[in-house]
Amino acid sequence: MRYSSFFPKSRKQEFKDDLSVNAKLLTKAGFIDQLMAGSYTLLPLGFRVVEKVKNIIREELNATGAQELLMPLLHPKEIWDQTGRWSDPNVKQIMYQFKDIHDKEFGLSFTHEEIVMNLLGKFVQSYKDLPVKVYHFSTKFRNEPRAKSGILRTREFLMKDLYSAHISEDDMYKYYNKVKEVYVRIFKRMGLQVKIVEAAGGVFTDKNSHEFQVLSEIGEDTIYYCSKCDFAQNEEIFKGSVGDSCPRCKEGKISKSTSIEVGNIFPLGTKYSENMKVFYTDKDGGEKPIWFASYGIGPTRILGALAEVYHDEKGLTWPESVAPYQLHLVHIEDPGTEPEAKSVYDTLKKAGIEVLWDDRENASAGEKLNDADLIGIPVRLVVSAKTAGKVEWKERTGKEVKLLTIEEVISRIGEDKGPEA
Ligand SMILES: [Zn+2]
Repeated sequence: MRYSSFFPKSRKQEFKDDLSVNAKLLTKAGFIDQLMAGSYTLLPLGFRVVEKVKNIIREELNATGAQELLMPLLHPKEIWDQTGRWSDPNVKQIMYQFKDIHDKEFGLSFTHEEIVMNLLGKFVQSYKDLPVKVYHFSTKFRNEPRAKSGILRTREFLMKDLYSAHISEDDMYKYYNKVKEVYVRIFKRMGLQVKIVEAAGGVFTDKNSHEFQVLSEIGEDTIYYCSKCDFAQNEEIFKGSVGDSCPRCKEGKISKSTSIEVGNIFPLGTKYSENMKVFYTDKDGGEKPIWFASYGIGPTRILGALAEVYHDEKGLTWPESVAPYQLHLVHIEDPGTEPEAKSVYDTLKKAGIEVLWDDRENASAGEKLNDADLIGIPVRLVVSAKTAGKVEWKERTGKEVKLLTIEEVISRIGEDKGPEA
């Protein structure tokens, strides 16, 4: 992609200091644009990162046997009445509910348990039809009275929600525990270290759930965790204080941190199937309720969490797996460098490498290099009069500059490909 025709360019204006790092850097570098409080457009750069995040999730979930579909966002009140959640005061706090001009009531989705259970009721008859594992990526709406923290807490955001339906509690927990492991791998592939944190089920279930939390100063959640083992609980359910001995291993001490929740999983049990009367026929001919669980990951929130974790004083520093492009090519306006940069660009593109080429004529070398640092693509290549048929390779987070041939560049990028083990 040529940056001269790219929409939009980075922004020159300075931003208010009280703005979160993710809002400031992602806006400045041209990844997102704010429409109103808690509502953002994903610009092409941000969209590319989110697509990479989605593809990692997709690959890992498909490998568990889950299938992708797409469900509506506008829901009739009647379906939500079947579980009583339409009138639940806690749900009313967060769900956009309204009447159309015919006085029919609708809600905008913040989750899809009722819709999936309705689907299961239409298609699942016997134990042979289970398990079912389906997910989608779609917009979720949440009435946030104090939308803040940039793209971390918004009124409208992208979610991946997975739902699984099973014949028994045992079968449900087997898959639940598998997804728990898969989630850790998903976040690791994106460069995020998560803690698995026990939490209450909120408006979803009265059972304990699990949250996936990235430690961060800006996080709105507070978690308590052990210095030795993997014990971690959120502040809603943790009974104790900082410095206590760990209740699990007895050896470690309890620490406290703020964190960003990037995923959550809920073992919902049979509450939804019983309320919505969705049963299956077991081997012995008896009618049994379906065991149900749901699993969320927020790709747009991940965009924000990545910006919080991966930045320095010059700008963003994307991990390779989710960077908007693999290479940022810059040529410095010495006479004759433009055709050479074009040939480098064409060769890299032919090799299947994603390159952003800053081919602007009206930008100085300084501006181009500053923008490369701000946008934060993992590797910057420079073509100048000094490079004489080669290119300068500099990693965004490194100091060393190497002079390489195009073939060497291609083989280095090739080595980096593929999921991290
Ligand atoms: Zn411990």
